[in-house]
Amino acid sequence: MQAAPVHPLPAVSRGPAPDLAPAACRDQLGRPLKDLRLSVIDRCNFRCTYCMPRERFGRDYPFLTPAQRLSDQELLEIARGFVSLGVEKVRLTGGEPLLRKGIESLVEGIASLRTPQGRQVEVAMTTNGSLLARKARSLRDAGLGRVTVSLDSLDDRTFRAMNDVDFPVGRVLEGIEAARAAGLAPVKVNCVVERGTNDAQVLPLIEHFRGSGVTLRFIEYMDVEGPSAWSQSRVVPSGEIRAMVERAHALVPVVRRASETSSNYLIADGSLRLGFISSVSHPFCGDCTRARVSVDGRLFLCLFATDSVDLRAHLATNHPADAVADVVREAWQARGDRYSELREELREDRRASGKRQYPTVRMSLVGG
Ligand code: SAM
Ligand code: SF4
Ligand code: SF4
Repeated sequence: MQAAPVHPLPAVSRGPAPDLAPAACRDQLGRPLKDLRLSVIDRCNFRCTYCMPRERFGRDYPFLTPAQRLSDQELLEIARGFVSLGVEKVRLTGGEPLLRKGIESLVEGIASLRTPQGRQVEVAMTTNGSLLARKARSLRDAGLGRVTVSLDSLDDRTFRAMNDVDFPVGRVLEGIEAARAAGLAPVKVNCVVERGTNDAQVLPLIEHFRGSGVTLRFIEYMDVEGPSAWSQSRVVPSGEIRAMVERAHALVPVVRRASETSSNYLIADGSLRLGFISSVSHPFCGDCTRARVSVDGRLFLCLFATDSVDLRAHLATNHPADAVADVVREAWQARGDRYSELREELREDRRASGKRQYPTVRMSLVGG
């Protein structure tokens, strides 16, 4: 019998998709501007060793002063500018976003924005969960939709050591429960896996969240400025974590949506959705549709960008959102950033020139 002709699978397209943002908002690599990560504060009540190690972020660290931070109204105008360009999802982050006073009214303001097509803007938040138990309900009432809680360990001793402020894991678990009870959805839990520190927590976290409806995502430890202790050897590649999981559970892949940063799986019995964010081992710059704005009004086109575009200067005009939109459009159209794909080259160039580390932006300023 003659074998049926084999049709190769179509190559994964990294180019523009027809139903995405208007051509005006595509960058040099054809990536549409789709999401805004808005950092609402650069301070944090944790000192996670992989993000704000206390030896660098001590009492004398020059955090932004309240006067340097944009007001709610200014942040709202920035969000409005992005939304006018087709952005439909705004994620509030920090530092720790729940430390910002009156965060609910900012959530409410952003949730009331409409895209040019009349669609409601989705407001999401990434938080360490420390204040979520008492804020989940009011955030939900203000219009927050999805929430992502960072949780690196179920083991209290490991958790306290990683947040380095002796914060108990139980209070974050209460926050996650409160988020679910308040109807925030989806609730995701992010765990940064660091070799020798919390890699033994992967399976306990899975056991804990099975059947809960929460999505659990494992993130590779990245070389963002802050932790001087970063080295490739402390990164646990997603493939290794997945193999560890697969020794205990059968996994079924879930099709990844365009611009999603994680590769997703279901535990075969349907009890838990898992995601792997592989920014070191399998960079996804080709699908990166996110802009980041720090709370002093600077636009960063890449998580690892060291230069930024000042938006604050454009807020003091009669039509601030329009002025912001014009600047953002121009900057986005010129964007060619893809640090993670070039990581080794850039770090090698840096080493060759005698400098130890490639300079990147501070994670707690742009919010991950
Ligand atoms: N404080 C909030 C929190 O922890 O969720 C929001 C800001 S935090 C900078 C945002 C995300 O960045 C968190 O999920 C955190 O785990 C992640 N992150 C920080 N430093 C990281 C690193 N070196 N590698 C990978 N992820 C990191
Ligand atoms: Fe704070 Fe989040 Fe950074 Fe931890 S990861 S230090 S909670 S900003
Ligand atoms: Fe996006 Fe920069 Fe991260 Fe690449 S390295 S995925 S361009 S933020």
